[in-house]
Amino acid sequence: MSTLPQPLPPGSVVGILGGGQLGRMTAMAAARLGYRSHVFCPGADEPALQVTPLATVGDYGDREALARFAESVDVITFEFENVPADSAAFLAERRLVRPNPEVLAICRNRLREKDFLASIGVGTTRYAEVTNVEALRRGLRNLGVPAVLKTAELGYDGKGQALLRGTADCEAAWQAVQGHNPDCVAVLEAFVDFRMEISVVVARGVRGQTACYVPVENQHRAHILDSTIAPARISDVAAARAEAIARHIAESLDLIGIVGVEMFLTQDDQVLVNELAPRPHNSGHWTIDACLTSQFEQFVRAVVGLPLGSPERHSDAVMKNLLGLEANDWEALLSDPLVKLHLYGKGEARSGRKMGHVTRLSPRNP
Ligand code: AMP
Repeated sequence: MSTLPQPLPPGSVVGILGGGQLGRMTAMAAARLGYRSHVFCPGADEPALQVTPLATVGDYGDREALARFAESVDVITFEFENVPADSAAFLAERRLVRPNPEVLAICRNRLREKDFLASIGVGTTRYAEVTNVEALRRGLRNLGVPAVLKTAELGYDGKGQALLRGTADCEAAWQAVQGHNPDCVAVLEAFVDFRMEISVVVARGVRGQTACYVPVENQHRAHILDSTIAPARISDVAAARAEAIARHIAESLDLIGIVGVEMFLTQDDQVLVNELAPRPHNSGHWTIDACLTSQFEQFVRAVVGLPLGSPERHSDAVMKNLLGLEANDWEALLSDPLVKLHLYGKGEARSGRKMGHVTRLSPRNP
C-alpha cells in the first residue's frame, strides 16, 4: 500500500535558494501559513534577507555552506533556475528538494527545454543547436530570417541574444552571443510573428493536483517585462489551449511546485511555448492582490505538501513593473486607492533593475 506524503507541519523551515524578490515574496507567503524560511544567497543585502532572520550567505557552489543550509531546513526549493546542477544534486542527497533537480536540469538549458517540449508534443518555434559560426549559417539557411540566436544557458531578459536579419549578421551575432565562452552552446530560433505574448502559471501539488491561473497578456520593453494584463484579451479557445498546455507540462515534469509558461500566440491563434520558469513568475505577481490564493502561497503549499488553494481571481488586474527610477514615484502611485504597491527593498535603482511592481485592480469582468 502506498502512503501519501504528509504535509510538513507549520513551524517547519522552508529553505529557499536565492535571495531576490521572488524569494522575498515566497518567504512572506510562507510566514502567513506559519512556516519559517531560511534563505541561501551570495549577498548579505538581498531582498529576501529583510523578511526572515534565517540566512546562509555563501556562493552557490560552496559545499560547506550548502551542507549547513541543508542541515537546518526541512525542505529545499529555489527562486531561480540557474542553480548549478551539481549543487542541486548535492542538496538533494541531503534533503528533500522540490521541484526535483531534474526539473532544474531541463529548464536551465533552452535546448534541453525545447527538446523536452517536443518530446511531450508541445509546439515551439522551429530551432537548431548552434556551437560555431558554420552551424549558425546552416541553421539560418534551414530556418530562414529573421531568426533569434540565444545562449542555451544563463541568458535572461534578452541578455545573451541577437537578432539575425540575414547571413551577413552571422559573424557578429555569434561573437555577441558567444562572449568570452569558447564552449558556448546556443539555440537558433525562427522568429515568431506573434500577435501577443501570454503566459500561464500553474502549480502542482504532491498528490498530482493542479491549480492553473488564467492566461495573462505580457508586454515587454527592451526585452524586460513591463506590464501584465489579467486576464489576457484572447478567445476562450486560445485560453483553454494555453491552460491545457501548461497543465500538460507540469504533469510531464512531475512537478511539485509552480511553473510559469511563457508563450507566443500566433496570428492564427496557435500557442507556441517560448520558455519555462519552474518557480514563481513575474507575470504572476498580479495574483497576490487579485486572486484567492497568490502564486507565492500556492508555491509554498505545493513545496510543503499542503492542498493547493483556489487560483480563482476576484478582480481583474494590470501589473506594472517598476524598473530603475520608476520606483521613486511611489508616493504618486499610491494616490490611486485601487493601486497596490510592492517594493522589494533594493538599494540602488540601476536602469532596468526590477525595484518593485504595482497592481491596479478593477472589478472582474466575467
Ligand atoms: P526570452 O529570453 O526567450 O524570454 O526572450 C525575451 C523576449 O524576446 C521575448 O519575450 C520576446 O519578446 C522576444 N523573443 C524571444 N524569442 C523570440 C522569437 N523566437 N520570436 C520572436 N520574438 C522572440
